[in-house]
Amino acid sequence: MSKIEADVIVIGAGNAAFCAAFAAQERGASVCMFERAPEDECGGNSRFTAGAVRFAFNGVDDVKAIMPDLSTEEIANTDFGAYSEDEFFDDMFRVTQYRTDADLCEHLVRNSFETMKWLQGRGMRFVPSYGRQAFKIDGRFRFWGGLCAEFWGGGPGIIEEETRLAKECGIRVEYGARVLSLNYDGHTVTGVKVKRGSEVFDVAAKSVVIAAGGFEANHEWRTRYLGPGWDLAKVRGSRFNTGDGIRMALDIGAAPYGNWSGCHAVGWDRNAPEFGDLAVGDNFQKHSYPLGIMVNATGKRFVDEGADFRNYTYAKYGHVILNQPDQFAWQIFDQKVISMLRDEYRIREVTKVSANTLEELADKLEGVDKEGFLAEMKAYNDAVMTDVPFDPTVKDGRGTQGLTVPKSNWANVIDEGPFEAYQVTCGITFTFGGLRIQHDTGQVLDVDLQPIPGLYAAGELVGGLFYFNYPGGTGLMSGAVFGRTAGNAAGTAAG
Ligand SMILES: Cc1cc2nc3c(=O)[nH]c(=O)nc-3n(C[C@H](O)[C@H](O)[C@H](O)COP(=O)(O)OP(=O)(O)OC[C@H]3O[C@@H](n4cnc5c(N)ncnc54)[C@H](O)[C@@H]3O)c2cc1C
Repeated sequence: MSKIEADVIVIGAGNAAFCAAFAAQERGASVCMFERAPEDECGGNSRFTAGAVRFAFNGVDDVKAIMPDLSTEEIANTDFGAYSEDEFFDDMFRVTQYRTDADLCEHLVRNSFETMKWLQGRGMRFVPSYGRQAFKIDGRFRFWGGLCAEFWGGGPGIIEEETRLAKECGIRVEYGARVLSLNYDGHTVTGVKVKRGSEVFDVAAKSVVIAAGGFEANHEWRTRYLGPGWDLAKVRGSRFNTGDGIRMALDIGAAPYGNWSGCHAVGWDRNAPEFGDLAVGDNFQKHSYPLGIMVNATGKRFVDEGADFRNYTYAKYGHVILNQPDQFAWQIFDQKVISMLRDEYRIREVTKVSANTLEELADKLEGVDKEGFLAEMKAYNDAVMTDVPFDPTVKDGRGTQGLTVPKSNWANVIDEGPFEAYQVTCGITFTFGGLRIQHDTGQVLDVDLQPIPGLYAAGELVGGLFYFNYPGGTGLMSGAVFGRTAGNAAGTAAG
């Protein structure tokens, strides 16, 4: 291998890392990225995504600015709506229970559209997220949750394109190269120590950007910081995000920040493998629960499936499922909604049973108390407010009356067979706790809250943005905004 020299080293090769690398390179810096995974497993959690990305926009003209390929027909047949910066702020404040760091949040929201344009200008492509974020009403697509775009090609498309663009502009990417630690002289970060195979070597740099993901794939840290039971969760994405980036920064005195006991976790197929499977991507998730109900081993419902749009509940319901007896739930649907279930319900690798009657279904729900389930179904069906019209594109208020665990929207009587049921457990996506950064430079702060010269961070391992919950599509946006910010500052400092 030729000797590695770079002004800026980026640790990781996920979306945040590439955005940092692009921005540093735009400042005239030479950039080398170290990716722990071998090339065929590269791309971190970013590669596992569907590519949904949340940004503020004022209407169809803004959508056209980032999707210039939209056809006249698509524009005519789609109501993209708008998603103002104020709405983005409101969502961040509401779902994090007003804990999100105001400076980080403002930087994210105010730079979201600009960063989309920057990515588009760099050659990334976006398409409308018709399949997952819109419903077709009277022949027109209507977006319902402020989230209208996804990266072309989903997560694999992101990594393929970002890798191609990086290589085209001379950014070096080293695979199978795990950064072990930061080289630090007591004041400034001067480079990194890397392990590849049996070889360990130092690489000097003027700036280092850590974009190495959270600690979701580390059983021991999960149990230590998220709490007992989290060792039992399945990992939705990369097996390589074990907290290395966070640990190496803490080792030189960086400040921990944010919701260290919190994470993003969803309902995920009960029989999914221990870590994500790139061939299946995010399709082990089962996100159509607002259209049905979920029951646990006692046969009882345990959560308001219709509390809010899916984008604002899915990331916290994984935890709720983890807390159920034996860490599982069954999602139940009838014929009225089965055609509306998301594509992920129709994959081959699915834990599913179906039956013509509820009694028959009860016999097939492995691990569930039959009598408890049938009594729950009756109580639920009797409680549905059938006089309120059903409309999945708005919070329709068609709820239940008189139940201990209400369903607030989209409640339908479940009585039309054949019925379908899908078994889920908890799948962890990423952890919320991490490093403290200066919001407008991405510089890592030390425990005295002073910037550590030469050290920057971006992506999942930035603490302080998300607490308890998360608005869908914000992870990729956060990686892009803070990656660009960190790369910009790291490249400028290295110049
Ligand atoms: C199944 C799934 C679906 C998702 N869907 C969406 C979605 O649609 N929209 C959205 O916004 N978010 C989504 N997310 C969340 C999103 O993936 C993350 O928020 C985002 O991709 C994180 O980007 P990142 O660059 O910070 O981390 P990653 O993409 O995880 O990259 C971190 C990289 O660092 C590398 N690394 C780790 N340790 C080292 C080391 N010591 N040395 C060198 N390299 C190291 C890893 O191998 C990895 O490649 C999803 C996540 C999953 C798992």
